[in-house]
Amino acid sequence: MKYTDLANFIDGKPSTPEVPRAERYSPVDGALLSTIPMSDAAELDKAVAAAKAAFPIWSAWTLKERAAVFFKYYALLSQRIDEVADIIHNEMGKDFNEAKAEVSKSLELTEFACAMPQIATGDVEEVSRGVECRLDHVPLGVVASITPFNFPHMVPHWTMPNALVLGNTMVIKPSREAPLTVLKIAEMLKEAGLPDGVLNIVCGGRELVTGICEHKDIEAVTFVGSTKVAKMVYAKSCATYKRALALGSANNHLILLPDAHPANTAANIAASFLGCAGQRCMSACILVAVGEVDDIIGKIVEEARAFVPGVNMSAIVNAEAKVSITGFIDRAEKEGFKILLDGRKVTPPAGKEKGNYLGPTIVDHVKAGSEMAVEENFGPILAIVRAKTLDEALDIANSSPYGNGGSIFTQSGRSAEIYCKRIQAGMVAVNVGVPVPREPFSFGGWKDSIVGGGDITGKSSIGFWTKLKKISVKWNPDKPAIWLG
Ligand code: NAD
Repeated sequence: MKYTDLANFIDGKPSTPEVPRAERYSPVDGALLSTIPMSDAAELDKAVAAAKAAFPIWSAWTLKERAAVFFKYYALLSQRIDEVADIIHNEMGKDFNEAKAEVSKSLELTEFACAMPQIATGDVEEVSRGVECRLDHVPLGVVASITPFNFPHMVPHWTMPNALVLGNTMVIKPSREAPLTVLKIAEMLKEAGLPDGVLNIVCGGRELVTGICEHKDIEAVTFVGSTKVAKMVYAKSCATYKRALALGSANNHLILLPDAHPANTAANIAASFLGCAGQRCMSACILVAVGEVDDIIGKIVEEARAFVPGVNMSAIVNAEAKVSITGFIDRAEKEGFKILLDGRKVTPPAGKEKGNYLGPTIVDHVKAGSEMAVEENFGPILAIVRAKTLDEALDIANSSPYGNGGSIFTQSGRSAEIYCKRIQAGMVAVNVGVPVPREPFSFGGWKDSIVGGGDITGKSSIGFWTKLKKISVKWNPDKPAIWLG
């Protein structure tokens, strides 16, 4: 990919503030990709001012007119999936085919926003004789999204299309690891006819995040990233009386029963913990193996061997993350847990020697309560914790502070039913490795995987991005009202 000095995108134009720059190296092959402005408060003010100026114009468009821009964007993006996937692949190291799948999910989220005129219709009722009461969804104003590295294209699509179609204007702060992907979204939306100032992208670091949370002209903030930062963003945003929703970390447990379908189960579990090299908030992290399931575990190991870093498996986002993930494996080994597959030493393919790679790792007989069982490592590791019964497995899964996703592998309807009733997580599945709901079913975890109320996508996003106006009208003075005159 060609090297670029990136500019922010403000009021429909590139903006290059006089600020320090960070360098971004590709995790695929170590090449210097771009330099990124570490924007300051003045640059944020400029973006918010552009969004504030655009709000009265954009919010005066009808819902259908705003959705029409996203129909055009959908058409453009559908034709350019490979181009966008190539940027994602180079910038944050995701396997190219997985990057294409990410863009497909962005399209599905855009499709939901395009349907907003059919969904966010408001309500009307004759509440008393001759008196009509109407409920309108009114946009909030300038809103903001702070996004993570691992789904740099999809996560902005969790919020931006719905927020904008509902009439808000927006500032996005992308991860330092993948800003070009997000800038591409703004460029394509401009091509689709989005008026200048409606969407603004500002790159930067921690100070910028704090600036967003505390900005007097921003009405609502969403965040997706680690729980530590999610809690900080939520607290700071609420302290300045904003709406806030912050999605955090995960440590998803899958439960394996002896009656599971061996081949399907093995393929699904391997794909779940190795997709995006484990850098997914819906990845399998812990496999709670119930009873005698060694045959199926053997098959998972075989399936995992087919994932080759740099060939059909993603890179690790940066050198620090690789060191951190390797540390988890080193410490698990020291604890005496059994390493069935060790991904610490990999030889990347020719031309990718300077990339960041780790191979599939499976650690068996991990002790419940140990670091490997409890903490999110965000790497291509499956930790197997043994349990005697489904009850015990559920207790282990439910002891996690996180509650993003989970799944059970079984052919018993009764066991599946017990699991779905008792598991404490927001997105759960039966015989599905990555239990992400497809739109219109919304995305959102429980417990420490989320701070704030409601899910980030789907119908509950309408409540988050709008406020309700209740309008009571009486035009006919001759018609005696029953109660409200
Ligand atoms: P992160 O928390 O490091 O960064 C997320 C955003 O916050 C980025 O824009 C980053 O620049 C900013 N940031 C980082 N540290 C900050 C600080 N100290 N102060 C202010 N801002 C800061 O997360 P990440 O590494 O980009 O993404 C991985 C994490 O995100 C994992 O924990 C993963 O589970 C989580 N995640 C969760 C979901 C979900 O839906 N729950 C989805 C994707 C990722």
